[in-house]
Amino acid sequence: MSNNSQVPNPAHIQADSMLARRFGKETVNYYSSSPLNRLSFLRSDHPFLSAAIKHPSTRFVILKDLAPLTRSPTELYYAKYDEVRKLVPETIYDKSEEDLIKEHDSRKTEPHLIFLGLDEAQKEDGLTWKIYSGTPYFALDASEKGSEEQQANAKEVLAAFEGKGLSFLQARVALTFSADEAAIYAQARAITDWNTRNTYCGTCGHRTIAVNSGTKRACPPTDAARVAEGKPAEKPACTTRTTLSNLSFPRTDPTIIVAVISTDGKRILLGRSKRFPPNWYSTLAGFIEPAESVEDAVRREVWEEAGVTLSRVVIHSTQPWPYPANLMIGAIAQVSDPAHETISLNHDPELEDARWFEIEEVEKALRVGTSDLGGQAGPEYKEGGLRLPPPTAIANQLIQAAINIDFLKNSKM
Ligand SMILES: [Zn+2]
Repeated sequence: MSNNSQVPNPAHIQADSMLARRFGKETVNYYSSSPLNRLSFLRSDHPFLSAAIKHPSTRFVILKDLAPLTRSPTELYYAKYDEVRKLVPETIYDKSEEDLIKEHDSRKTEPHLIFLGLDEAQKEDGLTWKIYSGTPYFALDASEKGSEEQQANAKEVLAAFEGKGLSFLQARVALTFSADEAAIYAQARAITDWNTRNTYCGTCGHRTIAVNSGTKRACPPTDAARVAEGKPAEKPACTTRTTLSNLSFPRTDPTIIVAVISTDGKRILLGRSKRFPPNWYSTLAGFIEPAESVEDAVRREVWEEAGVTLSRVVIHSTQPWPYPANLMIGAIAQVSDPAHETISLNHDPELEDARWFEIEEVEKALRVGTSDLGGQAGPEYKEGGLRLPPPTAIANQLIQAAINIDFLKNSKM
């Protein structure tokens, strides 16, 4: 069951600052505020990565078809190098990236291994590299794929995990981890998913290889497999290959999500899709389109889905949502004229219903009626009452902020 304690509470949000006095305390959402320092500039440092994979403190987050390996539904399992060495050869980072690209052979497949970062709070017995020290974290895809040998190795590694009583958490959306583990899992899931979807170049259709420890993929200019077929090593031109290689980067798809307040500040606009459980409503959301500001997208989505015309839009907070690669940009918006509040579902039929809810009803639902889509409302919930998303969803945080009394007072000034 989700609760408020799962929402991250990093030290900086308690700190006094001019900005906090002006705009209020920052809202930090679930899946964000990872305890890891990503040290992105070390991702191409192969001597560092080579030392990191074998270090006794190092932890591997294991995914199988994107499901995380867990001790229990609330706790990730972190594997040691010895448990995964069959999938991660000691020599994996022996060569430089430049050499790996030069020696590319499309007949060979590689494990999806991603350096996530260092937990600098766990320095004791951790790895020290230059001025950085802590416990290294990697993500490893242990799904059975690749060559026959790789698949057999994966089977063996997976069987050993099973033998320890561990299991892969099967959940459409995993909302049961602590805030720290949720952020680590979000990073592991999002980047692993992107790697598995981009093993072929989107421009020329040939195999790509991972560089920067799984955070970029390159389309190498040559392929040893071609030489074996009696062809020149040079591959046909890839139109975006201007230097040594064609690089592609993980996607982040920006999405807006918005709590809408009525002109009088006494009601909130919420909607529901057909797939929601009965009485379960949420804030409106949708993808930002090319050449659209966040504010434009908020106004367009709310008009398209509910027929309501907005005036001021304020960006409130954001939430990474690794299903598969969204960044939810949370806003609060208000209607400036009661004539603009009329709901119409006739434009885009995406919602089954949209409705204005009185603040009191929403406050009650926040107390007794929150759960994730598959969960049960609290014990005080009465059948037929409004149900809302849990605090781990930015929708809940936006609704809380929108009905905050101080905010409404300020909005009337
Ligand atoms: Zn290409």
